[in-house]
Amino acid sequence: MGPNHEHVFVRGTDSNVWQKYWVHEVEPAGEVSFGVSECVYSWTAGYHQSGTRVTVRIQLNPDAGISTATMDSLRTTWRNGIINKWSDRFSCQAPNGGRQSITFDVQWVSSGAHHVVRVQPGPARSNMRLWDTSDTGDVASHEFGHMLGHPDEYADAACPARSPVDTGTVMADNTETVARHYNRITGFHGSGHNPAAGASEPPEVPEEGAMTLKNIDKLRPEPRAAVLQRLRGMAGVGAAPERAADTEVSFEVSGGAPGERYVYRLAVHGDGAAQRSVVDELQHAGDDETSHAVDRQLAGRVFQAAADAGLLNDSAPAVPQQQVDGEVLPDSMVAVITVRDGDAVRRVAVPADEPAYAGASLPGEPADIPLRTQVQLPADSVTALRPVLEALGAVEAAL
Ligand SMILES: [Zn+2]
Repeated sequence: MGPNHEHVFVRGTDSNVWQKYWVHEVEPAGEVSFGVSECVYSWTAGYHQSGTRVTVRIQLNPDAGISTATMDSLRTTWRNGIINKWSDRFSCQAPNGGRQSITFDVQWVSSGAHHVVRVQPGPARSNMRLWDTSDTGDVASHEFGHMLGHPDEYADAACPARSPVDTGTVMADNTETVARHYNRITGFHGSGHNPAAGASEPPEVPEEGAMTLKNIDKLRPEPRAAVLQRLRGMAGVGAAPERAADTEVSFEVSGGAPGERYVYRLAVHGDGAAQRSVVDELQHAGDDETSHAVDRQLAGRVFQAAADAGLLNDSAPAVPQQQVDGEVLPDSMVAVITVRDGDAVRRVAVPADEPAYAGASLPGEPADIPLRTQVQLPADSVTALRPVLEALGAVEAAL
């Protein structure tokens, strides 16, 4: 313990295969910065660590019209919320038995920030770099977790293989931190750690609860060709092919921090079974969920459209995925098209947003989509995906 702690290079500290971490300490400042990738999301974590003391410098950029008094009050609320949630909850144990509490601080800065956050009038949907005047200290503490490098742990229609998921922690529902959220900090510090006295620890959800999915494009050539062949076989108007119920084309739009999520999902199977669901936590609307069988011809049209859009080609479609070459922030609004055969999936994710924000947040021009969801996608993506979106729109109209 102490300032002369060991400098370590950490890779793959989580067992989750969908994540990768790399940490490199730059001397002598104790600055930590690393890329995080989980499901379709990718971003850069950043903070300053000195022993068991972690400091995050955040620059808040309020929209015009938000008063200085409001910002002063929000800074207090958010900093208190973050510190109460993260700081002095767990401690680092030295080989000699001595304990040192792991502490966190937020510095509001106007330059040299680890993270720049836009603040908009609320209520609105927040993500790691977009907060609003209605956000509580709990929401801030969740986004702070992303800044430290933690992925989301809530169930997300766009990320069915997420693990761990539904954990009841700050990263799932804005509640509490648990010991593993401190592993990287303490691993970096070079010591084990133990829960501090009085810290609450919700039970962990066993990992087998998560759905195991394989990326079609990571399969060996033979099984990959078989999967794509079966999916292409769902196109057309004839009777449902064998195992049609195991195939699916789905479209999800989701975004927002826990408590303000928007999740739209429309899916159709090769045999015509179809589901539509919409959840909007900001509207406090009840779940709107419909399941119905559409005729086989309509299902075949969706798979044909997926083939026409290149989603069932031997190699992964290149055009729409180029939209996601930058960061995709956790909790940000994304649209994901998935083709699935059993546990093998291929996904194309594109940024999305509500019309009020799309002009500013999306790359290129925002465009409407032919589905009953209030979001827009970049015009290029809509053009590339139009056959699938229109065929899914026909399914939605038939539900
Ligand atoms: Zn999140």
